[in-house]
Amino acid sequence: METLMIFVEEHIRFEILAVIWLLYIWELYLSLRQRKLMDKLVTVPSSLDGLMSAEVYKKARLYALDRNAYSNIHDLYSTIINTVLILTFAFHYYWKWGIMLIEALGASGDNEILASAGCLVVMSTVSFIVDFPFKAYNVFVIEERHGFNKQTTKFFIRDQALKFLISQLIGPPFLCGLIWIVKNGGDYFFLFVWLFVVVVTLFMSVVYPEVIAPLFDKYSPLPEGELKTKIEALAASLNFPLYKLYIVEGSKRSSHSNAYLYGFYKNKRIVLFDTLVKEFCKNDKNDDNKESGCEVDEVLAILAHELGHWKYSHTLQGLMLAQISFIMNFIPFAKLINYAPMYVAFGFTNSQPIFIGLIIVTMYILTPLNTLFGFLMTVNSRRFEFQADAFGKKLGHASALKRALVKLQKDNLAYPLFDKLYSGWHHNHPPLLERLEALDKVD
Ligand SMILES: [Zn+2]
Repeated sequence: METLMIFVEEHIRFEILAVIWLLYIWELYLSLRQRKLMDKLVTVPSSLDGLMSAEVYKKARLYALDRNAYSNIHDLYSTIINTVLILTFAFHYYWKWGIMLIEALGASGDNEILASAGCLVVMSTVSFIVDFPFKAYNVFVIEERHGFNKQTTKFFIRDQALKFLISQLIGPPFLCGLIWIVKNGGDYFFLFVWLFVVVVTLFMSVVYPEVIAPLFDKYSPLPEGELKTKIEALAASLNFPLYKLYIVEGSKRSSHSNAYLYGFYKNKRIVLFDTLVKEFCKNDKNDDNKESGCEVDEVLAILAHELGHWKYSHTLQGLMLAQISFIMNFIPFAKLINYAPMYVAFGFTNSQPIFIGLIIVTMYILTPLNTLFGFLMTVNSRRFEFQADAFGKKLGHASALKRALVKLQKDNLAYPLFDKLYSGWHHNHPPLLERLEALDKVD
């Protein structure tokens, strides 16, 4: 029995490591295909005539090559760390340190719920430290080199510390609730966990934009003017329940631009990044690139696209897909929760903590299934983007939307040409040329 057990647990470990490395090799293969394409296209290809100047193309290409190298190295680093964690039974130590932490705070080490919270604090602290150099390198070397970084060292450290602190305030209590339900929920605990997760998600989507997001960035109401009047008229023409209209000072962080909608039912908000709107880009004294940002009609076209997402209930559909993903993870977890070899494989020979089982099942054993599901979500998201573009076109914003897309591509120095396989696997937004082509198509 003993030898059989060791055989099974070695087998589990071997399979998990094989999946981790196969996935790494697959991602690297795609990334190198994309790199080869960019290496070859040194000068602007004719497919970009009139869309991108030679100078912008050159900048975008160098930026993309830098990002490509960065992500290859980062992926290798993460894969090696992950392998080391598994080979050294690191989760067993995390669990022990978690117990030491709660005992130091005066709680009993036998309390599995509190021990799980302690373990989560230990794990997230380690992963924060391990990833910190990469975050800093990304902001202060890569983004800086290509002119996007607006953060000072002080801003960056405060930002990272605040993010870490807030995740410590939210994560552990949530986990305690979850573990309590698993322990007390009987055979169908996953149904109660599901309900709990839905309630917490809804609660967070109310609390996050009102309480948490303003801690990081300054949100102000969009000032009176042509843009505001026109956005309100667009929203009213579609019966969109626009509750508030904000402009966020994204320029303190980075000069990348964006816009989004959020909120429940009758309380919708629209948020514009100041870097998106030409009028507000000019106000940015640190920005020497006066030409960036979109005109009023282009911002409206982008919002018409965003309103397409609302009209077709894309957010709600996304939420439904997240529920499917949840069930897909929790039913196998419920089946495997008492499967001893799985715990032994991670160094737990005489205890089976629920939190550890949850990590092993959802983060390791189900990786192939979750990766496949993620890919289907990506494909679906591209479909949503085309639908939202078509909605904007139906409202008469096609030409402004095309101009806006070209401008955003330029302002963000986004490289526009892709290897088919790379793009198909990674892009949740279709590439620029495909979107322009779709907008040009006669209905
Ligand atoms: Zn979209």
